[in-house]
Parts: sequence; C-alpha cells; structure tokens
Amino acid sequence: MTERQYDVIIIGGGPAGLSAGLYTARARHKTLLIEKGAVGGMIINAGLVENYPGFADGVSGIDLTQAMYKQAAKFGLEMLSVEVTGLKVDGKNKVVATSDGDFSAGSVIIAGGSERLKLGVPGEVEYTGKGVSYCATCDGAFFRDKVVAVIGGGNAAVTEALELTRFASRIYVIHRRHELRATKVVQEKAFAEKKLEFIWDTVITAVVGDAFVKKIKLRDLKTGKESELPVDGVFVNVGSQPATGYLKGVLALDAVGAIIVNDRMETGVPGVYAAGDIRSGSIRQTIGAAGDGAVAAVNAGKYLGE
Ligand SMILES: Cc1cc2nc3c(=O)[nH]c(=O)nc-3n(C[C@H](O)[C@H](O)[C@H](O)COP(=O)(O)OP(=O)(O)OC[C@H]3O[C@@H](n4cnc5c(N)ncnc54)[C@H](O)[C@@H]3O)c2cc1C
Repeated sequence: MTERQYDVIIIGGGPAGLSAGLYTARARHKTLLIEKGAVGGMIINAGLVENYPGFADGVSGIDLTQAMYKQAAKFGLEMLSVEVTGLKVDGKNKVVATSDGDFSAGSVIIAGGSERLKLGVPGEVEYTGKGVSYCATCDGAFFRDKVVAVIGGGNAAVTEALELTRFASRIYVIHRRHELRATKVVQEKAFAEKKLEFIWDTVITAVVGDAFVKKIKLRDLKTGKESELPVDGVFVNVGSQPATGYLKGVLALDAVGAIIVNDRMETGVPGVYAAGDIRSGSIRQTIGAAGDGAVAAVNAGKYLGE
C-alpha cells in the first residue's frame, strides 16, 4: 500500500465523517479523513446542543466534535486539511482528487454536509468579512456591544441569534414569513430573550456601508414598503444546500442535489457511501449524521472484506 493509498477515505470532518472514522479506524481499516475547513462541521456553530444524547446539561458543538475527533484519532484515524475536488471510480479503486493531488482507496464515504446559501443581494459579497458573516460562533465576538441582524427563521438562524446574545447589545431577526420555522423549544427561548427583536414578513434587499457594514435595506413583503436599518453586522442563515458540486455526473443526486442512498448508505456506485446532511432524506441533525456515519462505515467494512 503506497503512502497515498487507503482502505477508506472519508470526505468531511463533521459528525458523520468523525463517526464513520471512529468505526473504520477501530475496525483497523487504514483511514484518511479529508476536511477542507475546521474539524467539527456545521455543528461548531451551535453554542449549546441540547438534543445529542448523553449530555444532560447540553454540550457545545465545538466540545462535542473535538471529543469525537480525539476518540477517532486514538484509534489511528488520519486527517488531512485540503479540499476534495473530484471523485473517479475505476472498479475497486476509487481516486479522490484534492487540492494536494490524488489519493486512492477501496471505499469512500462522502460526509461533506451542506453549504450555506447566500442572500444574493448587493453588498453581500463586498462586505463578507467586513460585517457580513455566515458563522456566529466564529465571528460573534467581533460584535461585542454592537447591533446585528440575523437573516432567517429556521433552527440554525434562531440558534445563531441566541448565540449572539453573548456579545451583541441588540439582535434583529429578520424573517420573510410571519412565524419561525425553528422547533418550539428554540422558539420559546428566543421569545423570552430581551435582546432579540423580530421583524416579520421582511426581506433584506441590500447591505450598505463604507469600510464596514453600516446599514441594511429592507422590504416589507406585505406592504411593499422599503426601509433602512442601521446595523454593525449581518449574520446570514437562509438555508443550505448539499455540498455535492464536484459529484455531479458521478453519483445520482436528488432534486436538491443530495446524494441518493439506500438504508445501508450505499450510493449507486459499489464501495461509495454517503452519510449525514449530504444524503437524500437526512433529518439534518447531529445524531442522524453520527448514526449515518456508523452505518456507512460498517457497510464499507463489509464491502472491503468481500
Ligand atoms: C447554527 C446551527 C445550529 C445547529 N444546532 C443543532 C442542534 O442543536 N442539534 C443538532 O442535532 N443539529 C444542529 N445543527 C445541525 C447540525 O450541525 C448538522 O446536522 C450536522 O453538523 C451535520 O453533520 P454532517 O457531518 O453531515 O455535515 P457537516 O457538519 O456539515 O460537516 C461536513 C464537513 O465536510 C466538509 N467538506 C464539505 N465539502 C468538502 C470537500 N469538498 N472537501 C473537504 N471537506 C469538505 C465541510 O467543511 C464540513 O466540515 C445546527 C446547525 C447550525 C448551522
């Protein structure tokens, strides 16, 4: 086996990939996990995860996934920080192309999760990193005693708004509908939080500033009225899409671009599995991702043994 050849390559170091890595490494399959960003995936954005079993008082997304990583590394999981750009299947051999060259494996588990959707309004790209952010955990501390807006009304958006109460003095939650899509427990917390103010039936139409964000432009969807809101920061959380751009034409994807799998997490290509938020029908929760990772890993092990 050459230096760049593995039994299993896992793409993505979120809960699905880390769980898969624990199982394959512990089964003594030579495993490489490739992660392009921070280990832990999407859940590192959650200050407190209350629905992952085993933590009666909740756990931060960072602590949870650091523990997952430590546990898998203990059994020999190797990790590489590069981006995967392609997958080629040549019978039993699978070639994973990365920004650092090719790696081969007998089996590949794709656990790349999803990417945040952009607003697509003027100023968004220009002010990214200058007041526009997609990660409250990463950037929240820059907004101590400042006024920010969170765009979105789902679980992730409201969780981020609550996370920002640790730093910002006021947080506007701007949502295109008249009610939140977040689960009831999250909603109850949000409505009890005095720093949060909700602006309903409203969309953002532009981000405006000088060196940094100064204000956002809004449109009321019911009245059509345009307005401006002075803010120091904008946290965008308007949904996500499966991170499968490099897999088009390689694997079967559903209408939203998620990888189609069966209940063994098998894609249509023997030896290639998908797990977590990236697969069609996922519940898009950490527990589901971790479970999928285990299912994929066990079946990858069976495939390698055939
Ligand atoms: C703010 C927020 C709060 C949340 N709160 C909760 C909660 O309380 N409870 C809960 O259960 N769930 C919560 N979630 C959802 C949870 O984060 C996801 O369901 C979970 O992280 C999915 O895990 P995953 O491993 O499938 O994907 P991800 O966590 O998205 O991980 C995928 C990883 O793959 C990497 N990757 C993608 N493409 C490539 C590539 N081409 N090359 C290399 N690496 C790649 C990404 O960088 C990423 O690190 C929350 C999400 C957000 C955003």
